[in-house]
Amino acid sequence: MEGLSFGPLSTLPSLVEELNPHRIAFLTNTTVERLWLEKAAEGIEEPIRIVIPDGEEYKSLETAVAIWKRLQEEGFTRKSLLIGLGGGVVTDIAGFVASTYMRGTLLGLVPTTLLAQVDAAIGGKTGVNFNGKNMIGTFYLPNFVLIAQETLSTLPEEEIRNGLGEVAKYALLDRNIYALTRNFEGINETLIKECALFKAEVVEKDLIEGGLRRMLNLGHTAGHAIEKLSGYRIKHGLAVSMGLMVASKVGEELYGFDSGKAEELLGRLGLPTGHPFRAKEILEEMRLDKKAWYGRITFVIPVEIGDVVVEEVDEAVLKRALEATRD
Ligand code: NAD
Ligand code: MG
Repeated sequence: MEGLSFGPLSTLPSLVEELNPHRIAFLTNTTVERLWLEKAAEGIEEPIRIVIPDGEEYKSLETAVAIWKRLQEEGFTRKSLLIGLGGGVVTDIAGFVASTYMRGTLLGLVPTTLLAQVDAAIGGKTGVNFNGKNMIGTFYLPNFVLIAQETLSTLPEEEIRNGLGEVAKYALLDRNIYALTRNFEGINETLIKECALFKAEVVEKDLIEGGLRRMLNLGHTAGHAIEKLSGYRIKHGLAVSMGLMVASKVGEELYGFDSGKAEELLGRLGLPTGHPFRAKEILEEMRLDKKAWYGRITFVIPVEIGDVVVEEVDEAVLKRALEATRD
């Protein structure tokens, strides 16, 4: 993907200069402000600093309104640059605000969580929650994304693991990434880079989810249901990990996929392989989801490492997979 770059925060000023913006604003949250804003702003002249509270509940229209107001007060124009510095919450709002303010300003993203580096900041989906997750949003590609691994040094272990759930997904989708997880001893630059590039490539071929992009939902159909059932106490990445195991069992029954490979992979990454719910509960939750998707719920199914099919799955097959993966 054009605009995807990997390097230290010290390379940010040169990415900014290339765009020659009228004004520059950082959007971040209170946590990341304290940890990384000074370093990120080094070498950038008098940026506007917009700091929002930390938390998914602030990924809202109210927050967007406050940011629009602030940009207006500061005389921000379409030739100005908004830089989202933070996790997926910040990069999602930054993208949304940048895509809508005066019909679109320049946008740069500096993701600071593993999840945002391999997923949220890649691919141009922006949005805020509104009676449901990401109900209001746009597709808007940033002018640059800077992936600076150094920012992960302050990220809590729990958040690393959250991102690893998506890494495991990519490993099942791509042989090269799978190979990189073979001797996993911790997250590293190459692995992050390959995951980010993989998503960027898929999205480049299919921006608005006509076909190919759907493969990125691997592990997410059951994963979402599990996440919801837990009242969001099970974090997204861990729910996806459980969902990957479910999908793998479906793949085993329908296509002879070796689900042991998925189990080993998740084990290497320190991720859960079983979920705590009854098959019936998850199926019910998935049915609700199905309504939201106009009655078509498709499953991404591993056939072998690096190969999936997308199709509707018989409930009986699903039920067996859900039972087999219950903790
Ligand atoms: P997040 O943005 O809430 O970040 C998680 C926590 O880590 C927060 O408390 C944050 O303040 C903190 N943090 C961020 N960087 C840090 C650092 N370097 N050191 C210490 N703490 C740090 O959550 P997330 O997991 O990054 O992203 C989740 C969001 O991303 C969700 O809203 C989800 O909908 C969205 N998302 C979007 C896409 C997309 O394609 N647009 C894809 C996946 C997820
Ligand atoms: Mg996800």
